[in-house]
Amino acid sequence: MQTALAYGSIVPGPILGNSLGSAGTTGFSRAEICCLALKGISAGTISFSGSQIYTNETHNYFSTANVVQPACVFSPETAEHVAYAIRVFNEANCSFSVRSGGHLPVPGSNGRDGAVLLVTSKLKTLDIQGETARIGPGNTWAEVYRETEKVGKVVLGGRLGSVGVGGLVLGGGISFQGPEHGFACDTVVNFEVVTADGQIRNANTTSNSDLFWALKGGSNRFGIVTAFDMKTYPLSKVTGGTITYKYSSLPLVLEQVDILHRCQDSDPKVSFFVNVMDASDVGVGQFVEVVIYYGKPFTGIPALLQPFFNIPGIISNTVSTKSFSEFIPDGREGLPVGVFSHLWRSLTYQRSAVVNERVAEIFQEEIRKFRESRGGGIQPGVFTLAYEPYAASMLSAKQKTGGNALGLDGRKGPLMLALLTYSWINQTEFAPRAAAVKASVERMRRFAVAEKKHVNFVYLNAAAPDQDPFRSYGRANHRRLRNIRRKYDPKRVFSVLQAGGFNL
Ligand SMILES: Cc1cc2nc3c(=O)[nH]c(=O)nc-3n(C[C@H](O)[C@H](O)[C@H](O)COP(=O)(O)OP(=O)(O)OC[C@H]3O[C@@H](n4cnc5c(N)ncnc54)[C@H](O)[C@@H]3O)c2cc1C
Repeated sequence: MQTALAYGSIVPGPILGNSLGSAGTTGFSRAEICCLALKGISAGTISFSGSQIYTNETHNYFSTANVVQPACVFSPETAEHVAYAIRVFNEANCSFSVRSGGHLPVPGSNGRDGAVLLVTSKLKTLDIQGETARIGPGNTWAEVYRETEKVGKVVLGGRLGSVGVGGLVLGGGISFQGPEHGFACDTVVNFEVVTADGQIRNANTTSNSDLFWALKGGSNRFGIVTAFDMKTYPLSKVTGGTITYKYSSLPLVLEQVDILHRCQDSDPKVSFFVNVMDASDVGVGQFVEVVIYYGKPFTGIPALLQPFFNIPGIISNTVSTKSFSEFIPDGREGLPVGVFSHLWRSLTYQRSAVVNERVAEIFQEEIRKFRESRGGGIQPGVFTLAYEPYAASMLSAKQKTGGNALGLDGRKGPLMLALLTYSWINQTEFAPRAAAVKASVERMRRFAVAEKKHVNFVYLNAAAPDQDPFRSYGRANHRRLRNIRRKYDPKRVFSVLQAGGFNL
């Protein structure tokens, strides 16, 4: 006999049928029963504590604060495996979570102790056909760019190679090509997604178009995406790299940031972001990085970017013409994956030189306060303030591709995302650091409000656990998202059974 859950003829009825009612009396948790049922797909898809795969997967997180001890790790190889798992989770009522690249540093958002951890590591389709590429969520952006570049193309994705495809696109996706083409999610032409009823659906402008819209910003609230069909764009070489300055150059750097931010729309091939870093507690000191990008080869330096080269205090400069995959390092730059715990929080405001400056001052003042509050006992770590500009053209691009759920448009002009991150080695300081990050961003927010520049948008991919990105998309979009969720997930499988994710 087979249960309704049977995967072909792999799972005989008694595995689930007999155990479900007795979870708790058999000594198995519901999640463990699901693990056993999923083992029926093939032994290679399930890993338990003690195995190398379990250890690797449960530690495969950007932030060490996210490391988990799930009941088992489930690594589906096909969309059918995912669909089967969803039916198992439904029937057994067991808790699960979903992880792709593991870069969202929100503890619990991509894995929970005791739940089934569904990882997309084996969903690695990477198939480029003319104007589109089919990309599995298990790829990193470095892997994607290496393939697209072989055919002279690029897709819109992360600005660091180790970031995963799944989370970045479903949360929006800021890329170097954003000013030209919008958020990464705006360039998706079709999502292959497993919904709460265990069906594999396509969501695009003609089929499940409401779900298509919702997935562009809706993160993990609507289903598990098993493939992204994304537009490809021609790209040969790019001009770009990182200019690192002494900390004392910060005022002049911020001056140029504002000038460039203002006129970025005049040349959408230009893209950039800034990291203000204080790594004194690990002996590296303070410095400022400007990462610049020009989306085609250029002899010399594009005029809009030239002023950055004239600022005194340059420590190093890696800007040159190179392939895109050389430009996007595979985790080699930035902080290494899986070494630090990270806490981050962000705010959004309209382009403003005054707010940029004050945000940097508050960043410095609050670090000083935090250090004083810890006496001499501070854990080794790094404090980062990133300025990530949204060109107005990036916010309006959605109009051409069916819209997105983010609730932004170019009418308020270019916007700035300020992202504050505290990264440190030992997790013991979690609570005081979280409080310090929150207090800092709250002061920044109040200043932006007083200047009438604050924009009530929280970028999900840069949000702290207690921020509310979906509500920040605006009342109408929030309501629309909830209605679509009701249609595709009436029993709230992805909001209740799934552990982790922002509240919708
Ligand atoms: C070093 C670093 C660099 C970054 N650079 C950029 C950048 O350039 N641009 C940018 O926009 N953001 C950037 N981010 C933020 C990044 O977009 C988010 O952290 C994003 O969530 C990462 O995606 P992931 O697949 O690695 O994360 P995960 O932690 O695996 O997933 C994030 C969330 O999405 C859900 N999810 C993942 N895959 C799926 C799926 N297939 N179906 C349904 N739900 C899914 C998970 O359940 C989880 O809640 C960066 C982050 C880091 C740490």
